[in-house]
Amino acid sequence: MEHSNSHPHFDPAHLRSPIEPAHKGRAQRLVEIAERVGAVRAARRLHDRLNSTITILAYHRVIPTDALDSYPLDPELISATPQQFDWQMRHLREHRNPVSLTDVIAHLDKGTPLPRAAIAVTFDDGFSDTYRYAFPILNRYKIPATIFVSTGYVDSQTPFWFEIASYLIYRVRPRALKIDDGRTFPIGESLGERTASLRQIHGILKDLPNCERVILIDKWTHAFSDLITHDAMRHSLPISWHQIHHMASNGIDFGSHTVTHPNLTRLTDHDLGLELSESKRLLEAQLQRPIESVAYPIGTRSAFDQRVTTATERNGFKLGVTYIPGANLIDRLNRFEMHRHGIGRSMSPPYFRALMSLPSWLN
Ligand SMILES: [Zn+2]
Repeated sequence: MEHSNSHPHFDPAHLRSPIEPAHKGRAQRLVEIAERVGAVRAARRLHDRLNSTITILAYHRVIPTDALDSYPLDPELISATPQQFDWQMRHLREHRNPVSLTDVIAHLDKGTPLPRAAIAVTFDDGFSDTYRYAFPILNRYKIPATIFVSTGYVDSQTPFWFEIASYLIYRVRPRALKIDDGRTFPIGESLGERTASLRQIHGILKDLPNCERVILIDKWTHAFSDLITHDAMRHSLPISWHQIHHMASNGIDFGSHTVTHPNLTRLTDHDLGLELSESKRLLEAQLQRPIESVAYPIGTRSAFDQRVTTATERNGFKLGVTYIPGANLIDRLNRFEMHRHGIGRSMSPPYFRALMSLPSWLN
């Protein structure tokens, strides 16, 4: 399929400081003007605020550009190419203070101070490309990271349910995918109609009671098994235990992303407890270390609530991260409702730099 967004352009010119030596005189004049109009005071307040925040970045997939040309799944799940990711990690290493979520928990539990301009890198779902492309780069810059894994998919060779829906929406004839309430997708043949349908169908599936969603995806997988080729699905393979073990013994942390990646607010109390406790139990048994953080699947306001955060705490977790953008103010941390900035592949180096410098503006 084609992509609505063009491939992000990587411009090494952005690596240069925005103020070149030749412009220093001008910069000084600008600062003097800024000082007169009070902008420097405002910047200092902002700077102080930035230094008392912890920013958490949320990545999904890291895939090279050449793989994008024939990419058959949801392009919105691609956070960066390896080249972009390399630049971003180098930027964090040089200009911010990368910390692990374990450091954040130690701060919350014991008051261990966090460094100024603290930043944590996280990945959701557990895709094999996290191992293949992101892990060597994290290693290169010694960036601590946490990977939130949906344990039911590990080693399964089965793409996540939202990837199967994405794949089918671009391939089946119009109106071939039926929802129980009578709605049918995709709404048309064109790429634009299919992309619009994908956003709609993901919204519907995320809000369905969990068992209905499981049955529906199962039904579609069987009905269109001839379309779901191994070649297409290899683009979306979940991570393996072997890959998890290798990363765990090389400085990467793991957290729970539940077992089956449901919308936790749509579960019964019993199933909610199982999704949290089983994923934790399995990761701890495999890794022989405590698993203390969870990323709520989907992560938006409709994907967690008081009942979910209470169950999270009751099941022994110490930190819960959402997909709500914004930095977290260190003196007002809500440990079961931590904000994260989702990173997208259209993010240019200047925008990434600005996001790192002014994360609390986007709260
Ligand atoms: Zn997820």
